[in-house]
Amino acid sequence: MTSMSFLQVARTIRSLLERRMRGQGFRRGPPAHSHLMYPSSTIGAPHQSGLLWIRRSVSYFRHPGLSRYPQLVQGTFTRQGGVSNPPYDRLNTSYDVGDHPRNVTSNLAIIKRILGTRQLMHMDQAHGDRVHVVKPGNPRRKDEIPLADAIITNVPKIAILVKQADCQGIIIFDPKKGVVANVHCGWRGNVKNILGKVVTRMKHDFGCDGSDLLAAIGPSLGPCCAEFVGHGKIFPKGFEEFMVRTNYFNLWAISSRQLQNEGLRQENIEISGICTRCRTDLFYSYRGEGETGRFGTVVMLK
Ligand SMILES: [Zn+2]
Repeated sequence: MTSMSFLQVARTIRSLLERRMRGQGFRRGPPAHSHLMYPSSTIGAPHQSGLLWIRRSVSYFRHPGLSRYPQLVQGTFTRQGGVSNPPYDRLNTSYDVGDHPRNVTSNLAIIKRILGTRQLMHMDQAHGDRVHVVKPGNPRRKDEIPLADAIITNVPKIAILVKQADCQGIIIFDPKKGVVANVHCGWRGNVKNILGKVVTRMKHDFGCDGSDLLAAIGPSLGPCCAEFVGHGKIFPKGFEEFMVRTNYFNLWAISSRQLQNEGLRQENIEISGICTRCRTDLFYSYRGEGETGRFGTVVMLK
């Protein structure tokens, strides 16, 4: 220790920190497809971050761009703060993964309390492209759980939940028309272009204009971990452009492109840049853990 100069010690500490950050999936600088990203420094220290909110031991991320709109309640809940036991620990939102239903109901009650809502609508998610629309004149049946992977609504006080473990939870918001959508989009959703279908429906049913829409792509499988060995058989040719190295794809960039194809402006699309497989301390990852829970992305008009 005595032979090391102050500068050497500082360099060693810096390289150790950088190695640690890389191990957690953080990159220095923007990725190949650059968008508005959460600064990695704030994600590295979540307890100090304005993006991570903690209430009663429950923590959730808020998209900074969407946070500018006070009429919107939105966030991605981490796995922390619920009552489920391993391997579903702790804030599992899904009844379909083997967790005790009583625990899931308790977890959903915790989320409702934090959001300040009584209505938390979720879906029977099927990795499809079915879109469900909730309008004021067309009120939903009590406890209805539509078979769908996206819900669009302009009705306030209904929170919409998307359940995930690596798939993308994507919020789309039209501040002019007061319309919001929450989309479950895994790689199958990208192949079926569910995002394009949701935006088309927003235009058709609510008169939205693509250039007014804001979108936020939350924590999900990142380009660091999105390996698809059989991509030649499952992906369309157009996805090759998004292959970042052999067999690894940037699904965030694919989603962003699909939204832009419907008229969204690139600067109105924010990407959390958090990979769920790299951050199983915060999120569930199907690829990383196999049998595990589902975390929740929620959006609601006030
Ligand atoms: Zn990763």
